[in-house]
Amino acid sequence: MQVYKVGGAVRDRLLGLPVTDVDRVVVGATTEEMLAKGFRPVGADFPVFLHPKTGEEYALARTERKSGRGYGGFTFYASPEVTLEEDLIRRDLTINAMAEDDQLNLTDPYHGQRDLEARILRHVSPAFAEDPLRVLRVARFAARYAGLGFTVADETMDLMRQLSESGELQALTAERSWKEISRALLEDHPQVFIQVLRDCGALKELMPEVDALFGVPQPETHHPEIDTGLHTLSVLEQSALHKQPLTVRWACLLHDLGKGLTPEEEWPRHIAHEHTGLKLIKAVNERFKVPKDCQELALLVGQYHTHGHRALELKASTLLELLQSFDIYRRPQRFEEFIAACEMDARGRKGLEQRSYPQADYLRGAAKAARAVAVQPLLEQGFKGPELGEALKRERLKALKAYKEAATA
Ligand code: ATP
Ligand code: MG
Repeated sequence: MQVYKVGGAVRDRLLGLPVTDVDRVVVGATTEEMLAKGFRPVGADFPVFLHPKTGEEYALARTERKSGRGYGGFTFYASPEVTLEEDLIRRDLTINAMAEDDQLNLTDPYHGQRDLEARILRHVSPAFAEDPLRVLRVARFAARYAGLGFTVADETMDLMRQLSESGELQALTAERSWKEISRALLEDHPQVFIQVLRDCGALKELMPEVDALFGVPQPETHHPEIDTGLHTLSVLEQSALHKQPLTVRWACLLHDLGKGLTPEEEWPRHIAHEHTGLKLIKAVNERFKVPKDCQELALLVGQYHTHGHRALELKASTLLELLQSFDIYRRPQRFEEFIAACEMDARGRKGLEQRSYPQADYLRGAAKAARAVAVQPLLEQGFKGPELGEALKRERLKALKAYKEAATA
């Protein structure tokens, strides 16, 4: 049997990038031989094994044939007769369809190296269209390698467009989609992921609520870029430049969804978009079974981001309501993430990327002032139950009034 490194490990070594996870393909072996060598089988569907010592993945060379809708609709065929070339042709992109042996001899039947040099993401064969997840994967690779100058080949975009129009994207499971979306958002250029999905018509299928933001104007005074879709891309770009976590990036993507619902007669204003957007944010959250922390932050940022921007003008009582809504006493980190998302929103505007955002420190100071109110003296005064809660609120309000006066003096 022969073992080759394949996929990302080969691609990233040739690009001079660090290699994190290594996938291997085994040619000329049977499942029985693998088991006899101590490999542990994983996954019911695929002939994939883990190395007994390193734990790295070894897959038997296989071919596959589409036999139905979605990802379950594949028939795999693995046998010692399947050649390396046959295994590589079922892969998504030419730059992912190269293999190398221990001596670093490259097997590259589909010209991945040529496309690496030309900075092109190109599908390997028409079989690309058999798995709609590849639309998301290509957009994700575009987001990852945009900084190196990679773009998607025109003919690959055509296939992605056909796949999007066919409705096949609807067959993807929430889990598979979210895995790609979340990984893409954490890349260096997550806005490219959204842009590529939009360009091939997939965004309209996957997140019509985000797609609807393109072409919707905002007031030029606050938004020199005018277009809400472009603004959203810029906010996402800022979130990556500032190395924000996934929660913040997800919230950035969804914060303005309400603006897609504004009646045209009201353009470019978007009264109460924070509220109209909530049901859309909820729908997107549920569609992809998004992790709870991401769901929560997206909803809170959607509802309160304009509060964040107006922080210095908020009455002490409104400030208190804001802090209570975030439960800053038990969830300090979540409030920090809210502040970060607001700041990204403020910077994700044409020409305003470098602006200062004094609201951030002001909000942190307010949270600190509210948290500094001690419970003990109130207990000693005999407050308990709901009355204690009320007394605590009164004291916090007092503290916030003093804070506001001192900070804005
Ligand atoms: P990463 O650096 O993100 O791990 P990768 O290219 O190694 O990138 P994996 O998801 O680990 O991506 O997959 C390994 C290889 O398997 C890919 O390079 C590609 O050749 C192939 N592959 C994975 N998923 C698909 C798919 N849905 N369709 C076609 N080929 C795929
Ligand atoms: Mg990999």
